[in-house]
Amino acid sequence: MLFKFESLISKVIVTDRDLAMMNAISVVFPTSIHLLCRFHIEKNVGARCKQYVKKDRQEEVMDLWKKIVYSTSVEEYDHHLQQFEILCADIILFVDYVKDSWLTPYKERFVNVWTNRVMHLGNTTSNRVESAHWRLKNMLQTSFGDLCKSWDAVNMMLKNQICIIQSSFQKTIKDVEHEYNSQFFQNLHHCVSRKCMKEIDKQLERVKIVDTNKTECDCSIRTTHGLSCACELAKWQIYGNVIPLDSIHDFWKQLSIAHELEDEESLSDYDFSEELEAMKAYMKKHNIISQRIFKAKVREVVFPHTTSIIAPPKKVRTK
Ligand SMILES: [Zn+2]
Repeated sequence: MLFKFESLISKVIVTDRDLAMMNAISVVFPTSIHLLCRFHIEKNVGARCKQYVKKDRQEEVMDLWKKIVYSTSVEEYDHHLQQFEILCADIILFVDYVKDSWLTPYKERFVNVWTNRVMHLGNTTSNRVESAHWRLKNMLQTSFGDLCKSWDAVNMMLKNQICIIQSSFQKTIKDVEHEYNSQFFQNLHHCVSRKCMKEIDKQLERVKIVDTNKTECDCSIRTTHGLSCACELAKWQIYGNVIPLDSIHDFWKQLSIAHELEDEESLSDYDFSEELEAMKAYMKKHNIISQRIFKAKVREVVFPHTTSIIAPPKKVRTK
């Protein structure tokens, strides 16, 4: 199963370890970064663990395996691998399998320390494609349908999916979720996806521990998702700034399915008159506060290097 994502910065492909597919990708997409699905790997390692390791030790062994996969530095990876070899010293067949089948040839394709250097936007498994495939199979119901029935089922599934995505985009554009209603998030309101807000909120939680310490932060959300990491957020909080919209990767601002089609139109051919009229009408219809917010939003897009400055918080962190 293959998932391909193209961004402005990189191309990333996630597959399971299907060797024919892996070979084809290296020929057809030689410049793409090719990751392996963590979910499939864990399933395979789990199955071998059941085969080789006694039941009462399986949980401990799999926990250590997960620690290896989620290592965020080479030192951490080496340390966990060493622990793993000690723990499984009497199950040499299992250790050999894990090392020969996965870690030695492919660690760069699924262990955090290496995948954290790649702009994969959170796609480290092929689960999303698998679930779309599962949904389609449910809709098709049988493998004996004729072309027309299959066409209708695929069409129906795609229409449903587009509907769900569009309604989620509409919610983002119209509403602000209660938990992100603070001034700190104001530039992102109506402009970035809900998932993006959630990811930034998780980083905000880390600020209490990380503060502005870059080493402690590791900044992987910046590299992998193009989003503000804890140490960036801490700095903006100290200086009383809000999160700038241009600190967010364009992927998270894409709140329309038609976006890519619109991109194909040459900008010089694009007629903005309808938008300008609508903007003027909006300004006339709304009160001065709404007008100011609207103007600030437009400025944020048109002049991305200027950020809205707000008063510093009462307690300035000096650490
Ligand atoms: Zn950071």
